[in-house]
Amino acid sequence: MFSRRNTLQIMVKARDELGGRLTDSGGVRKNLDKNEKQKLLRGYERARAILKKAGAKNIFKTGYLAAHPGGTVKIGDLVDANLKTEYDNLYVCDCSVIPEAWGLPPTLTLIGLGKRLAKHLAGESGSS
Ligand SMILES: Cc1cc2nc3c(=O)[nH]c(=O)nc-3n(C[C@H](O)[C@H](O)[C@H](O)COP(=O)(O)OP(=O)(O)OC[C@H]3O[C@@H](n4cnc5c(N)ncnc54)[C@H](O)[C@@H]3O)c2cc1C
Repeated sequence: MFSRRNTLQIMVKARDELGGRLTDSGGVRKNLDKNEKQKLLRGYERARAILKKAGAKNIFKTGYLAAHPGGTVKIGDLVDANLKTEYDNLYVCDCSVIPEAWGLPPTLTLIGLGKRLAKHLAGESGSS
């Protein structure tokens, strides 16, 4: 990890299922189940085959390093289709509103949601 100039890295990502919890201090906790671990392992085997063909030696894998947490304030659950909570003038617009397991990078979706909400708040969307 500390020898980047001599290292070829492949990141393995997999779509998991919704689950986990928030801690009282705002942290995120989730244990991967057997199926999710197997998906990542399959990805690792593929990455390993690619690296081998590229001539890599000393191939190793790290532990689980990152996640894209979200889904804690789901659309259709705690916010409506306009991202409004049950309270007037209180909206949520970030990755927490995405109601399903993503499996894909979310930034474009979030920019879209932000622009849509801005229009809605400015009264331009035509929706209620
Ligand atoms: C290593 C890494 C690589 C990634 N690569 C990609 C990628 O290639 N493509 C992609 O689409 N997505 C990628 N993501 C995911 C993406 O960055 C996040 O999912 C996305 O930024 C989430 O947006 P958000 O608005 O929900 O939260 P954030 O972008 O985290 O925004 C939350 C904001 O709230 C602020 N904040 C927090 N607490 C408070 C507080 N109490 N008061 C005021 N402000 C507060 C924070 O400072 C922050 O600015 C990556 C994430 C990581 C960690």
